[in-house]
Amino acid sequence: MVPPQLAAGHLMTLQAAILTQHDKARLIAPALNCLDWQLTEIRSFDTDALGSFSGERPRIMTPYECALRKAAIAADLSGADIGIGSEGSFSPGPYGLGTFNLELLCCVNVAAGWAVTGRFYGPSLAQQWHISAPEQLQQALEKVAAGQFLLLQQGSIVVKGLSSAEAMQQALPLLAKGDVSLSYDLRAHLSPERQGHIVKAADDLLQRLMSLCPRCHTPGFWPDKAVPGLPCEACDSATGLTLEKHACCQHCQFSAVQRVTQRYANPQYCQECNP
Ligand SMILES: [Zn+2]
Ligand SMILES: [Zn+2]
Repeated sequence: MVPPQLAAGHLMTLQAAILTQHDKARLIAPALNCLDWQLTEIRSFDTDALGSFSGERPRIMTPYECALRKAAIAADLSGADIGIGSEGSFSPGPYGLGTFNLELLCCVNVAAGWAVTGRFYGPSLAQQWHISAPEQLQQALEKVAAGQFLLLQQGSIVVKGLSSAEAMQQALPLLAKGDVSLSYDLRAHLSPERQGHIVKAADDLLQRLMSLCPRCHTPGFWPDKAVPGLPCEACDSATGLTLEKHACCQHCQFSAVQRVTQRYANPQYCQECNP
């Protein structure tokens, strides 16, 4: 259902362009369907120029800066009202466990002066194997998720976009010469898991877009600034747990405070009771 403010035309029936070389429009279009945007893909810009997954070109911007830059370039090149930029990154998970994927989808309206970013953050199956024998290769390939493409590396030789069968074929002659490294090719069009995460980021983007500032109706009014200080249940001291969340309008600076539903923190999080 479309909220009344949106029906009034604030966000509806705009032209939007997404900067991608990896067929992302089809992933995000369903989530944004209710906005009735006309979504086109801009493929004339080499997004790898802003840094690439396999590390041939270093990334100098944060993932957020990169998504915002891509969104601005999409708006600029297309002349559309809305530009969309997508950026995925992988890093060690909480406590250094596993690999986590952060997907950002930034949506910018240059004329109206706002940017809203949807996100997904969660565990990824992405793996890397160091392989020195054909049996190890076989074992590694059995663990690869269905539909996931691979990247093979030996010294300066890098072969990307391989199916499991192709990886097997290409790796065997290389193994005769020495060890190889096998890893997930994490480009979006080659990774079903990433595609699912981008769809979730698009859902999040829609929620944030539809959350309008109560005062000026600018989209992206979202309680994403956590303020710690939830009192300890035993001694009432402020803990590091979130006490309230602040939303601040990027256009008129109107702000609102949302208290978390939890009233007290477990003493295990208290510096006084459990130092
Ligand atoms: Zn506002
Ligand atoms: Zn305490």
